[in-house]
Amino acid sequence: MILFSLAFLTMSAATVVQFALWPADIGYNTVVSASLYAAAPLLLVEGVLSRSGKSMPRMAHAAWLAAIVGSLAYYYYAENNLQIRVYLLNLGMGGIILHGAWLLRHMMRGSVIDRAMLWLMVGLALTFIARTLMTGGSVPTDDVAAFFESEFWVWAQFTMSVLGVAMGLALLLVGSADVIFALKAERDCDPLTGMLNRRGLQGRAFKLLAAGKRMPLSIVACDIDRFKNINDRFGHATGDAVLSAFANVVRTNVRTSDIAARTGGEEFVIVLKDSAVDDAYALTERLRREVASVRFAGMPDDFVVTCSFGIARLHDGEGLWEAIGRADKILYAAKRSGRNRTFAEGLQLPCAA
Ligand code: GH3
Ligand code: MG
Ligand code: MG
Repeated sequence: MILFSLAFLTMSAATVVQFALWPADIGYNTVVSASLYAAAPLLLVEGVLSRSGKSMPRMAHAAWLAAIVGSLAYYYYAENNLQIRVYLLNLGMGGIILHGAWLLRHMMRGSVIDRAMLWLMVGLALTFIARTLMTGGSVPTDDVAAFFESEFWVWAQFTMSVLGVAMGLALLLVGSADVIFALKAERDCDPLTGMLNRRGLQGRAFKLLAAGKRMPLSIVACDIDRFKNINDRFGHATGDAVLSAFANVVRTNVRTSDIAARTGGEEFVIVLKDSAVDDAYALTERLRREVASVRFAGMPDDFVVTCSFGIARLHDGEGLWEAIGRADKILYAAKRSGRNRTFAEGLQLPCAA
């Protein structure tokens, strides 16, 4: 937002410098206003790029500035032609914005906001280019006073004021939407494991549960065994490392269409899309073995972290927490029968060792 504001300020400063003829010397004025006019789209592009954690290489900034200011200075000092200066400046500004849009072309596959932002940039760049190609011929070649009465200047002022307001509002909207989405993601996320929390699970599960009418859904309740003992023996930090490692194992084994959440201290829930209970069983057994194979700093090499799992099938008309409640009961049956195993609804499973 700071870069966007600077872009607008720079653009206004450029117009004031040009219109007020300050500095009064046309040559100096050309160089100063060209620098400001070139800096404005560079700042705008940098603002949009920084949203995606990117930036335009410094060399590209320098090249655009040098090309625009240098060529405008040439077409004043070496060969005085105001019309060519107008073409070069406006096509250059359009070019900078198109360059930025090109660097952000991945946003075409992004959210609605990303795509709207990209189209806004392309539209803005095209107005610079199309407006100049259509009205550039009305610019006198050396009469600066007549320039302010040319069709080009009138259209430039008109489109820049309308687009300026539209662009300002759009950027404000994008900025607010970004903040809202970031806060929502933070609200739904557990900071230690990066997994969804209970609220996030509730939000994400809504769609999956609706789809559950057409396909089997399995709900897995997981709990790390004797976790209090891990904390007591090796310290809370090691306990935290175990939680993060467990989350990583889950993350690498579930599909993006599944949901994994940390619902309590060392308790997790996984909702598996289009998974019958025996598919879910195969997955949890893989998780159990992988977690057991992780070694932690500060723990003896032969110490094995184990977990217990309970799997329930989502029944017709059942709510999420109802199904989780049943998976929990099955999990506690697994705990009672010795831990480090998976129990599943409707499956007569051998006790895993
Ligand atoms: P069981 O096998 O029956 O599940 O035993 P348990 O010790 O795992 O279960 P219990 O519910 O008695 O203990 C859970 C412990 O988890 C107690 C609590 O201090 C710890 N815990 C909860 N949240 C965190 C956390 O964020 N980090 C760490 N390190 N420990 C946590
Ligand atoms: Mg436990
Ligand atoms: Mg527990």
